[in-house]
Amino acid sequence: MKADEEFEPVIGLEVHAQLLTQTKAFCGCSARFGDEPNTNVCPVCLGMPGTLPVLNVRLVEFILRMGLAAGSRIAARSVFARKNYFYPDLPKGYQISQHDAPICAGGGIDIDLPGGGTKRIALARIHMEEDAGKSVHDQDADTLVDLNRCGVPLIEIVSEPEISSPREASLYLSRVRQLVTYLGICDGNMEEGSLRCDANVSVRPRGTTPLGTKTEVKNMNSFRNVERALEFEIGRQVRLIRDGGTVVQETLLWDADRNVALPMRSKEEAHDYRYFPDPDLAAVRVDDAWIDEVKRKLPELPDARRRRFVAVLGLPPYDADVLTAEKGVADYFEETLDALGGEGPVRAQNAKAASNWVMTDILRVAGAGRASMKGFPVSPAHLAAMIRMIADGTISGKIAKEVFEDMAATGGDPRVIVERKGLVQVSDQGAIERAVDAVIGSNLPQVQKFLDGNQKVFGFFVGETMKIMKGKGNPKIVNEVLRRKLGAIPSRR
Ligand code: ADP
Ligand code: ZN
Ligand code: MG
Repeated sequence: MKADEEFEPVIGLEVHAQLLTQTKAFCGCSARFGDEPNTNVCPVCLGMPGTLPVLNVRLVEFILRMGLAAGSRIAARSVFARKNYFYPDLPKGYQISQHDAPICAGGGIDIDLPGGGTKRIALARIHMEEDAGKSVHDQDADTLVDLNRCGVPLIEIVSEPEISSPREASLYLSRVRQLVTYLGICDGNMEEGSLRCDANVSVRPRGTTPLGTKTEVKNMNSFRNVERALEFEIGRQVRLIRDGGTVVQETLLWDADRNVALPMRSKEEAHDYRYFPDPDLAAVRVDDAWIDEVKRKLPELPDARRRRFVAVLGLPPYDADVLTAEKGVADYFEETLDALGGEGPVRAQNAKAASNWVMTDILRVAGAGRASMKGFPVSPAHLAAMIRMIADGTISGKIAKEVFEDMAATGGDPRVIVERKGLVQVSDQGAIERAVDAVIGSNLPQVQKFLDGNQKVFGFFVGETMKIMKGKGNPKIVNEVLRRKLGAIPSRR
């Protein structure tokens, strides 16, 4: 649903980010993803009678980072509440969460609008909670349960209903993802479920203010699915209202294979969570000293990094945008630049050279792995070494592409690859002149064409000379020599 004349969508997102703490929220079990099922469990996270939760302070520190980065108000005192429901993956029968006294309120996330300009999406709140376990459905239609995820810390970031299109929703989500990864509190992996998003959506007559009845769409595990699911649901609501129906508040599950959002079975969504303060956990108290300490240790955030890349490194804003989109890529770029060194204009030149490689070949090879750049075959030091070889004329830009493919495949050192494959560029005048003479001597008809004023044959001569020199001729010198020699041939006219 892009531009409906009559109706406009209103969207609010609830984003769950799984935190990168070593241990769980209320016990000492490992919070690692991907371990053997049911190995990271203990009486506390299994909810055995008589056990008591103990708050992991890192959870508070991590949510403070997010709250401060988003400009939220931090509550001096906040309270954990029990959210009660029955489900096979929830052995305690309740999830520890925060309800009417969350730790962070207000704040906002800025998005760049596709048509230019920025828009601040206000946040309602950010609160702490623990994750539930995970049901696994095997081929025999048995349902197995993995409780490793029980008690893994999450933060939930709740936006105000201020998002006006599926595109904006996905831009907002990518900003949230960028922020949590820069803050080092979440790996942002949507496929593995460390970043999850529920979308609330309603429609209303364009230009009016009261909100329509909303539905909530769940189960979208990529940016693309969030957009598609919202487009589907907005279209459904508009058609329903046009046909004289009314939207019913309900929860829908996105089915990416069939491209539809279908209502959850009503039994599953008949939730009355009966929230009440958790009597086993004290209120969380945050004083100014703690806030100041977290603030002081905040890493450089995406916007600041983007501005620095333009102002200090002299990169075009487009480059700065692409390079800072993923923290892993920005780090990789800066490590490459540090390896190249240089000061002032030399540093700026090196920055642009490194940027050109990172924005193109590095991102192409990294593909989806660009989020972390973990285990990337070409190290920043090797990329820098190759850029240096281009700058000092050891290899041509064209040969560099070949060297790079080898580096990407083998992880090898470019200096070794160039040596082994004999790719060193030939800048020797004599050698280039001999090649040019041979080409001119054996292509007299083309020489005539050139003398007749056909400039296009010049490219043919460059190509032939390079062919004789196995691609290793210094292109600049080859061009010069060809111009000089061809220009010196007396025209018949
Ligand atoms: P609930 O009580 O159903 O959980 P909340 O008021 O807590 O609803 O809001 C949950 C999310 O739904 C928030 O992100 C909010 O912005 C969004 N939301 C609330 N009302 C609407 C609406 N009418 N249309 C679209 N989104 C809405
Ligand atoms: Zn445990
Ligand atoms: Mg709510």
